[in-house]
Amino acid sequence: MDGRLTAEPEGPTAVSAQPEAAASPAVLAALIARLRAIVGDRWCYEHEHQLRTYESDGLLQYTSTPRAAVLPGSAEEVRDCVRACAEAGVPWVARGAGSGLSGGALPVEDGILIVASRLKRILHIDRGNQRVCVEPGVTNIAVSAAVGPDLFYPPDPSSQIVCSIGGNVAENSGGAHCFKYGFTTNYVCGLEVVLPDGEMITLGGEELDAPGYDLLGTFVGSEGTLGIATKVWLRVMPSPETVRTLVAFFDSTREAGEAVSRIVQSGIVPGAIEMMDARAIEASEKMAHAGYPVGRAAALLVELDGAERECAARFDEVVGVCEACGSDDVRVARDEAERALFWKTRKAAFPAMGRMSPNYFVQDGVIPRTKLPEVLEKIDALAEEYGMLVANVFHAGDGNLHPLVCFDGRNEGEAERAEELSGRIIDACLEAGGSITGEHGVGLDKKKHMPKMFGEDDLGAFQKLRCAWDPAGLANPGKVMPTPRLCGEVPGVYRQHPLEAAGLAERF
Ligand SMILES: Cc1cc2nc3c(=O)[nH]c(=O)nc-3n(C[C@H](O)[C@H](O)[C@H](O)COP(=O)(O)OP(=O)(O)OC[C@H]3O[C@@H](n4cnc5c(N)ncnc54)[C@H](O)[C@@H]3O)c2cc1C
Repeated sequence: MDGRLTAEPEGPTAVSAQPEAAASPAVLAALIARLRAIVGDRWCYEHEHQLRTYESDGLLQYTSTPRAAVLPGSAEEVRDCVRACAEAGVPWVARGAGSGLSGGALPVEDGILIVASRLKRILHIDRGNQRVCVEPGVTNIAVSAAVGPDLFYPPDPSSQIVCSIGGNVAENSGGAHCFKYGFTTNYVCGLEVVLPDGEMITLGGEELDAPGYDLLGTFVGSEGTLGIATKVWLRVMPSPETVRTLVAFFDSTREAGEAVSRIVQSGIVPGAIEMMDARAIEASEKMAHAGYPVGRAAALLVELDGAERECAARFDEVVGVCEACGSDDVRVARDEAERALFWKTRKAAFPAMGRMSPNYFVQDGVIPRTKLPEVLEKIDALAEEYGMLVANVFHAGDGNLHPLVCFDGRNEGEAERAEELSGRIIDACLEAGGSITGEHGVGLDKKKHMPKMFGEDDLGAFQKLRCAWDPAGLANPGKVMPTPRLCGEVPGVYRQHPLEAAGLAERF
C-alpha cells in the first residue's frame, strides 16, 4: 500500500471515445519501429526504467505505463507520429511537463505517449503588435523572460517554472494574476494543431479574433482530447508601471474572506488576491523563511499593479479594508526582494505541504467569492468529520479553492478516505453554486464528478463535439467524459452496464 489508487477505473466511469480493442503485439511492434524511424532511436523510450518518468503527472496517486514514449523534435515529427498511431489504431496521450494535477497526461497502457519537451523554441517575437509565437514545450515563465522587461505574459500558474505552454493551452491554465488579467484562453490567438488523424491545421493567427466558429476557443481547455498543439501564438501585455504588494494576517479565514469581498466590492481590481490558512502558512514558512507568524489563521496576499498614482491611492484603501476586517498585522513589501519573498512563500505552499504530510490530494473547486467564509468553514467541518488535515491555499479573488487533503498512504484505506473527502469538498463547492474545477482540468480525476454539473444532454453534446475532431477516439481516451461511448453511438435512455450489474462498477 503506497497511497496509490487504481489507474483506470473500469465500467461506466471509464472511457468516452475509446478504441474498441487493444492493438495486437505485432501491430504495436510495427508501430514502434515506425515511430523510431520518425524521431530517431534516441528519442523513443521503451524500457521500464525510462518509462517510469512518465507513469504519472502531478497527481501521483494514479500511475500507468505506456507501451512507448516518443519525444519528437519538430512539429512535422509530431504530425508523423500521430499519423502513424492513427493508421495503426493505437491510442496516444500528449504530455508537456507532466505537472498537471488531474491525471490528464496519465498514459494509456499499450498506448503511446507523445512528449513535447524537446519543442522548446521561441519562434517569433513581434513587439510592436505584442505577439509571440512559441513551440508547445516552452515553459510558461520563459515567455515573459523572452518578451520582458517591457512586456509580459500574464497567466502565471504557480508551477510556471516547469509547466509548458502546450499544457497551459490544454488545461486553460490560470494563476495568481488571472483575477485581473484572465486565463490562458484570453491570450491564445492562434494555434497550429495536429488533429488525431494526423492532419496539421492552423486555427486563428496573430489577430485577436478570427471569423467563423470559435474552434480556437474549443481547443483551449480540451485537455489533449482534440489533438496536439505544435505552435502557439500568444498575446503579451505591457508590463505595469508599478507594482505594490502586501500580506495581511488575520485571526480567522472568515475575516480574511470578508476582506476579499470588500476589496472587490469597493471597485478595486487587484492584480492578485491569494489566501493561505494556518496550515499552509506553517508549511510555507518552514520552506521560505519569510518571518510569517505561524499560528495565525489566515494570510492574505494582495498585489496592485498599474499606474503609479492610482496604485498608491488604492493601496491605502486595501490596507484600510484589511484593518477594518480585523487584521492587526499588515506587511507592505519594501522592495522587489521582499515582494519576491512574499510570492515565494505563496508559491511554495504546495510543495511545502510535503513537509507536513507524506501524501496529499490537491483539490480544485470554484465557488462564488462571497461564499468563501461559509465554504471554508464547511471544509474545516468535513476535515474534522474525517479526522484528516486539510490545508487551504488558493486564488481568493476568483473563488478558486485549492484544499490540500493530507493523508498517509502507508495506512490501509487512508488514500481512499482522502479521495472521498476531496469529493465531499467538491460537493460543497457545487452546493454553494460553484464548479468542479477552476484551472486544473477534469482529466481522469474529476470525470466522475461531471454528471453532477452536466445532464445527459450536455454530456451527449460534448461527446458529439469530441467525435467531430476525433472519430476514432485515439486522443487521450478515458479522460474528461464520464461514460464509455463510441463515436456514432447515440446517447439514449440509461441502461445498466454489465459491470454495474455485477457490482464491479458504480454510476455517478
Ligand atoms: C506545484 C504546482 C502548482 C500548480 N499551480 C497551478 C496554478 O496556479 N494554476 C493552474 O492552472 N495550474 C496549476 N498547476 C497545474 C499544472 O501545472 C497546469 O495544469 C499546467 O498547465 C500543466 O502543464 P504541463 O506542461 O505540465 O502539462 P501536462 O501535465 O504534461 O499535461 C496536461 C494536459 O495537457 C495535455 N497536453 C500537454 N501538452 C499538450 C499539447 N502540446 N497539445 C495538446 N494537449 C497537450 C495533456 O494531454 C494533459 O491532458 C500546478 C501544478 C503544480 C504541480
